[in-house]
Amino acid sequence: MGAPETTDRAGWRSEVIEQRLAELEARIAAAAHRSGRKREDVTLVAVSKTFPIEAIRAAYEAGLRDFGENYVQEFERKRAELGVLPGARFHLIGHLQSNKARRAAQLFDSIHTVDSARLARRLDEAAAVRPGGRLPVMIEVKLSPEESKSGAAPEELDALIEQVRACPHLELTGLMTMPPFFEQAEASRPYFRRLRELAHRYGLAQLSMGMSHDFEVAIEEGATHVRIGTALFGPRQTM
Ligand SMILES: *Cc1c(COP(=O)(O)O)cnc(C)c1O
Repeated sequence: MGAPETTDRAGWRSEVIEQRLAELEARIAAAAHRSGRKREDVTLVAVSKTFPIEAIRAAYEAGLRDFGENYVQEFERKRAELGVLPGARFHLIGHLQSNKARRAAQLFDSIHTVDSARLARRLDEAAAVRPGGRLPVMIEVKLSPEESKSGAAPEELDALIEQVRACPHLELTGLMTMPPFFEQAEASRPYFRRLRELAHRYGLAQLSMGMSHDFEVAIEEGATHVRIGTALFGPRQTM
């Protein structure tokens, strides 16, 4: 009783974001250092789903340039309100339905969640009219069949990777995964390791893996993109 329904707007003030970002930066750098990697090899993707554009602006002012959103419609609205943000890159990290592929290819700078040949074809068609005619994509891999509904199964990768690579307007850069939630971050490690092995097998350089509770383990296992929401913006808003 008396607990506020939503977090206060102060959570999106630049100073608060700056403070959290400084802490995250230190942890990212330490995890990279522990595993003999360079800080620059890891991109922090600020996951702004459900947060208002003020949160994105505050993060941008704090120096962040990569943002992750889950829903095409939500981001379409926010993108229009945001206006020009020079250098900002927007990543789609949520499941994408084929019927939203066209819009997604216009709105986002990169898609982390390709999981079918059909979706790849739709994105490819839509990407043809982008400036430059290329759209960077990753394939989402489902490493725990019982827990997640989206993503391609590892045994589907041979075929899917070939199909995506045959799309002239898609640039396949890597793999993405989201392990089941574990209290202990360490429990995510075998999933991250597996994704790294798969990426290596297919000669893919990028690995989108690790969230607020397990990004350090992900970096130790080779993550190039960590997707961090609550550790930066606080508890998510209900929409
Ligand atoms: C929401 C979300 C995140 C961020 O999760 P946090 O635990 O808030 O850091 C990362 N990746 C995906 C795919 C998400 O949907």
